[in-house]
Amino acid sequence: MSKGLYHIPLAYNEPILSYAPGSPERLAVKKVLQEMKQQVADIPMIIGGKEVRTADRRPIVAPHDHQHLLGYYYQGEASHVLDAINAALAARCAWQELPWDSRAAIFLKAADLVAGKYRARINAATMLGQSKNIYQAEIDAACEFADFLRYNVQFMVEIYNEQPYSPPGQWNRMEWRPLEGFVYAISPFNFTSIAANLTAAPALMGNVVVWKPSTQQIYSARVIMEIFREAGLPDGVINMIFVDGAIGGKVMSSHKDFVGLHFTGSTEVFSKVWKKIGENIMIYNTYPRIVGETGGKDFVMVHPSAIATQVATALSRGAFEYQGQKCSAASRAYIPRSLWPEVSQIMLDQLATLKIGTPEDFTNFINAVIDEKAFEKITGYIERARAHPSTQILAGGHYDKSVGYFIEPTVILTEDPMYESMQEEIFGPVLTIYVYEDNQFEETLELVDKTSPYALTGSIFATDRFAIDKAFNKLTHAAGNFYINDKPTGAVVGQQPFGGARASGTNDKSGSYLNLLRWVSARTIKENFSPPEDYKYPFLLEP
Ligand code: NAD
Repeated sequence: MSKGLYHIPLAYNEPILSYAPGSPERLAVKKVLQEMKQQVADIPMIIGGKEVRTADRRPIVAPHDHQHLLGYYYQGEASHVLDAINAALAARCAWQELPWDSRAAIFLKAADLVAGKYRARINAATMLGQSKNIYQAEIDAACEFADFLRYNVQFMVEIYNEQPYSPPGQWNRMEWRPLEGFVYAISPFNFTSIAANLTAAPALMGNVVVWKPSTQQIYSARVIMEIFREAGLPDGVINMIFVDGAIGGKVMSSHKDFVGLHFTGSTEVFSKVWKKIGENIMIYNTYPRIVGETGGKDFVMVHPSAIATQVATALSRGAFEYQGQKCSAASRAYIPRSLWPEVSQIMLDQLATLKIGTPEDFTNFINAVIDEKAFEKITGYIERARAHPSTQILAGGHYDKSVGYFIEPTVILTEDPMYESMQEEIFGPVLTIYVYEDNQFEETLELVDKTSPYALTGSIFATDRFAIDKAFNKLTHAAGNFYINDKPTGAVVGQQPFGGARASGTNDKSGSYLNLLRWVSARTIKENFSPPEDYKYPFLLEP
């Protein structure tokens, strides 16, 4: 046990490096990119600290160069899920007995490794495996990853400090126990940092974890495990398995010791997994925690008083950075007719300068979408829009998968505010715009609120404070992250806790203490310093 009320190092946001020509960070990442490209990685599952390979070896290719083999991973089966659960449960006692400061030290050290020794490697892995340009990799794999780790330690201590009142004669305490079983983490392809946090957040709070990364993120997932191991994370606390999502979900949800799901991904998959858990509710030792951050159909609402250059820039960046594959990406915009000529001109001029290609060429702003399935889905929306009588393709609309899965940033203009691309999550570089009459601001706010089932992020652009206030109130439930005169992407840990409600998830706000609260089960302790020795209360006495 610790014999001191230790203070933790104050959390801070990892500074984003510039990667300008000639900078040491640029030289370092270019070198590692070359090295990684020349190797064929061999990526086993990690169960109980052991490398596990199977006969089913599968290739990993770069989305921007699908003939380039980056490595192989080994596909597991249901038995591997069970092995990982057993390894986690075997590690549970020792891990939860470890004092909180030891757990904190491991993850603080991991943060320093991410920001230092491993920075170039985790960025390069994210660039090659997930097709991110260096800036997108840096803000995700280096900075947000380190931020999650450092801030979560601070949030943990804030939670531990949350203690009840003790009147004279007694001492009331709250013990923030880990959950009694294993947590299952399911991560998406698009953010290395999210994958890392889905596992690290419950583990920091004393839980043991089975992690099923997205197949499309395995290349950087192994670097996450290398970092955790070097930071001193004991074997079995986080176990990484490569299995079919549905198989993993089935084994997890039929195990009596399943105690929590930490999910980020699509609404459809989350709903399926939740249903399975519900069907099995009678078998669990304890009611499981279900945390899921899911899809979005994020809006930019523009008032006639807005500044056109700001709107256009927010759309160019907010809709197309990382090819629109951010859950927060701006994908529908509502522009007043009076402002539309100026906004469209500036935006189209900006888009015309965006270069597309491999992330290894640092002058490319746009890289490839993640895989062929995504490419077909996204281009399906483009082709349907091209053929539809009430829509028009204003920019982009071309695509090519001969070398990599490249799609031009595409802007659709629609006369129908309920057109499919105004409602559905596309998860690609496609922005749909609806131009409204200036005197229809309030009615359009109503449209923004009701058009899509999602409620993740959204922006209002205006200089008129009454308009901002109106949008703020009308759109109370339309976005869990609401931006005023800013693009709806780019939430920073410790600054804008992230998540949305409705079909966008349980809104447990990753990057805040709210998320960590889901990974503890409080025990209340009352200690009486002078226990009564007679059952009779004074009112029972004879007058
Ligand atoms: P996805 O839903 O296709 O996959 C997510 C994970 O679920 C993967 O690991 C996948 O293998 C697994 N999976 C698939 N079927 C499963 C099943 N039946 N049972 C259990 N697991 C299963 O999502 P994706 O394409 O990797 O990521 C994109 C989605 O994630 C988008 O919808 C995006 O909005 C969302 N997302 C949300 C946030 C957020 O914070 N709200 C952040 C990032 C991504």
